[in-house]
Amino acid sequence: MAKIPSTLIDQIRAQSDIVEVIGQYVTLKKAGRNYKGLCPFHTEKTPSFTVSPDKEMFYCFGCNTGGNVFSFLMQHEKIGFTDAAKILAERAGITIPSEVWQDKRPRDDMEALHEANAFAARFYHHQLVETATGLKAREYLGKTRGFNEHTWEIFQLGYAPESWDILLKNAQKAGFSIPILEKAGLIKKSEKGTYYDAFRGRIMFPIMHSNGRVIGFGGRILTGEGPKYINTPETPVYSKRQSLYGLAQSKSAIAGSKQVILVEGYADVISLYQAGVTNVAAPLGTAFTAEQARILRRLADQCVLLFDSDVAGENATQRGIDILLAAGLEVRVARILDGKDPDEFVRKYHKKGIDTLLTNAKNVLDYMVEHADTRSAEAKARSIEQILHTLAQIPDEIRISLYLSQLSSHFDIAKEKLMSAIRAKDKTIRRQLLASHRRTSQPRAASIPPAELKLLALMLTNAELFDQTFEHLYLDDFSSPQVKRVIELVYKYQDWSAPEIDLHTILNEEANPHLNSFLSKLILQQQQIVDPEKTYIDCIQQIKIRRINRDLAELRQQMSHCTDEHQLAQLNADYKALNLKKQEIRQTIIS
Ligand SMILES: [Zn+2]
Repeated sequence: MAKIPSTLIDQIRAQSDIVEVIGQYVTLKKAGRNYKGLCPFHTEKTPSFTVSPDKEMFYCFGCNTGGNVFSFLMQHEKIGFTDAAKILAERAGITIPSEVWQDKRPRDDMEALHEANAFAARFYHHQLVETATGLKAREYLGKTRGFNEHTWEIFQLGYAPESWDILLKNAQKAGFSIPILEKAGLIKKSEKGTYYDAFRGRIMFPIMHSNGRVIGFGGRILTGEGPKYINTPETPVYSKRQSLYGLAQSKSAIAGSKQVILVEGYADVISLYQAGVTNVAAPLGTAFTAEQARILRRLADQCVLLFDSDVAGENATQRGIDILLAAGLEVRVARILDGKDPDEFVRKYHKKGIDTLLTNAKNVLDYMVEHADTRSAEAKARSIEQILHTLAQIPDEIRISLYLSQLSSHFDIAKEKLMSAIRAKDKTIRRQLLASHRRTSQPRAASIPPAELKLLALMLTNAELFDQTFEHLYLDDFSSPQVKRVIELVYKYQDWSAPEIDLHTILNEEANPHLNSFLSKLILQQQQIVDPEKTYIDCIQQIKIRRINRDLAELRQQMSHCTDEHQLAQLNADYKALNLKKQEIRQTIIS
């Protein structure tokens, strides 16, 4: 990867308002001097994700993710530093000299995969729109599905011709290597060891990240034998669990209406969008996931489930309800009574029909009560059990209580009984959530003495103070390896003619997630120190005393093993002297 000059990096950072950049992905509200929002890196219902415009850093007190504007993009978009810098530069209108990009060293894989996917999307689109081989595909999309050419453009629809290697040959001509094309899932290796196109004779639906970059494809067979759909496998840039089809196109409509309509497939998304219902997205593959719910929660308050009216659709609806409620979204269920899926329905009844469906969408409880099996007492009990399990996911107690009143009168069961049943459930659900969070979160770092943490936070406020600290302390007076490491890094990267400690260079150069979160946490805690001057002196003294205590303990250890009388006397004298020093320090604290 080419190295971008540090002055340019500074310029990019200076012109990238961290609140604005993160604000594109997370709804931020002002809280004192900082901004707060729901963390994009873990599931939460109350915001612990904090952005400091003064310090140009972010930190989540829930999952310990943190860093600066570059690290945010890198972690959120799963890209490397150069790509993050590129995106920010583009956003800020800064031109990066071309020699920085046209470097002969190998580019990072992520970027190459993105470029290969973008190339393939353009290639397939060209095949669809402008070639004779694309005629059948054009007819299928236009006449059979009723998608107009404007829609082909918006969703970058394409056609993979009936050929074994047309993409492979063209991509190689354009400079893409076989390993990259294979890694991107665009080509496959045969048993003979030769390579062939993964998608052949298929209508191509590019799957995009919400930022608009193509990360994978869904391919629908046009004619003949074979599975109806094949999709890109998991790749370093594509994770089925974390992507939603249509989000790149519908993101702003969803954020604007605070509502998202969730449908099952590619065709449903495109049909609704073309009809003018643009706040629509679909999970990819079979199951809707908690990660996808989290992505939607960042944009919307309400989700309307509009799944197919078959058994699979019903099951997907029930699973979707639980996941969406747990993510903190309000859920409604719209049901198609005429026609099989939303795609069919919208072709018949247009936007007006969809609008009516949405207006008549049922709240979660009505939907579940309607579907409850009440043919026997046992079935009824099981249904109520299932309903309570779902309601227990709702974070808002008042809403739960309202639903329980409704449930109580519908099934003629005392509300108190339902309430205590749900409380018991609530506890186990919460415990499960906590347990799963603990499993996924990073191992806890060895605890750092509070005095060292506070002092380091204060030292990082300005360069003079940082340096001055070592008139009172030695590096070895600190016991925490993490604290010592930060001090060493400051000495490695700091330009001492500048008044501020430059943490951003450390973050950018080291690009270590643990270090990122540690530094950003320090910086945000720094703001909470009430009396910095007094705290600074107190911390130095506490660290000195702790250091002496460590030395005293070691002396005691040596003394207990010492057999030489002469040496023992010396150790004793040292011990007394140290104790005296400790008392002196204690007294200065009091005075
Ligand atoms: Zn978090």
